[in-house]
Amino acid sequence: MLKFWGRPLSLLGSLSLLGLVLGWMTTPVVGLSIYSAILLVLVGYHLRQLAAFKQWLAHPELESVPEGSGTWALVFSALRQQVKLRVQIQQRLHQELTRFERGWEAMPDGVVVLDKHGHVEWCNPKAQEHLGLDPQRDAGRQITNVVRQPAFVSYLTHESVQEPLLLRVNRVQPLLLSLQMVAFGETQKLLITRDITDLERAQLMRRDFVANVSHELRTPLTVVGGFLETLLDMEDGALELGQMRQHWQIMLAQSQRMQRLVEDLLTLSKLENEDHPLKDEPFAVVALLELIHREGQSLSHGRHTLHLQIDTPVNLLGNRDELHSAFGNLVSNAIRYTPEGGKIALSWQVFADGKGVFSVTDTGIGIAPQHISRLTERFYRVDRSRSRETGGTGLGLAIVKHVLTRHQAGLHIDSELGGGSTFSVEFPAQRIRALE
Ligand code: ADP
Repeated sequence: MLKFWGRPLSLLGSLSLLGLVLGWMTTPVVGLSIYSAILLVLVGYHLRQLAAFKQWLAHPELESVPEGSGTWALVFSALRQQVKLRVQIQQRLHQELTRFERGWEAMPDGVVVLDKHGHVEWCNPKAQEHLGLDPQRDAGRQITNVVRQPAFVSYLTHESVQEPLLLRVNRVQPLLLSLQMVAFGETQKLLITRDITDLERAQLMRRDFVANVSHELRTPLTVVGGFLETLLDMEDGALELGQMRQHWQIMLAQSQRMQRLVEDLLTLSKLENEDHPLKDEPFAVVALLELIHREGQSLSHGRHTLHLQIDTPVNLLGNRDELHSAFGNLVSNAIRYTPEGGKIALSWQVFADGKGVFSVTDTGIGIAPQHISRLTERFYRVDRSRSRETGGTGLGLAIVKHVLTRHQAGLHIDSELGGGSTFSVEFPAQRIRALE
């Protein structure tokens, strides 16, 4: 404070003293005139500082705060401090806001901020994707003018409803959304959108799976139960031992079918179990393929010609038992879907880019193109009765696919109806090891 008043007061005091001395030495009029002239110069100086201040107010940037001199230097320095503080607060607020917006943007759910009349104030990218909102075009618009489904409009008008609304929308692909309105701030509302398409699909798959398993088990159980009832109702000695044997044979075949189904189901559930991580170990491809070749020959009972060709003997990093089952499944399919006299070729190659490929080619019945992408779905079969007649469960390729996914390997199916099929398994280079 003393710094502020000290100089101007001492200047005014000195000036008044000078005026008095001059008035005393000359005449009072001369003294007063000189005193007034100096005061005018002082007023001019202050006006100039004020003009600089006013000019700065038009563009109040930190860098352009005037320097000033004397008392004004103190005023402008205090002003610079204030502006600096304001800039820092603004920067902090901006950073907070950016962080807040980034948080909303990274959310897997959609968020729309609505005012009390339901006008869009802000929305994150997921909400744009879910509801087809455009933040520029739709800012300030009634949300019901953008999302017009009657169920949604009625949901917005019944604010007391707490249950989320399920809404089907057609975007790039059809989506099932779960929408929930939440009160926000004084009068605003948050509309949260969640994509539950995959969840619904998973539930549907689970329902289908249970229905399929029940259906698959019902037939053999009915056959076995029916035979047992007939046998029980028969009088002693009504059937000869040979006839009895025929019945038992049918029952045995049906119980074996159930057994295969249960075994495949257990294999699938084991593969899907997250507590069952893959146990990797390098093993010789040659020994495994020779074993599979021999097993194929025994399964075929000489009805097909099986040929094995190994171009590059290497070690493969993976789980030998799981891959034995997956490769064996492909060979058994080739045998089952190739009529007698057909040829089946098993081959192993390592390509220049380091990838290893096992393929099974048959000259069998082939597959029409529309079925190919669905073959690895559980219980998907092109010809149900043919699959059953040959002992299939409809789960073989689903198991193969699971095993291969665990090994980061891909399955490629190349087939032509009536022209045979090739099933190839491609392993990434990091799973191929040279023989020690
Ligand atoms: P399945 O127990 O019915 O053989 P998979 O999952 O092993 O079940 O195979 C699914 C379906 O794919 C089979 O039902 C069959 O229609 C078709 N398929 C699989 N392998 C072949 C093949 N080598 N040739 C022709 N069709 C095949």
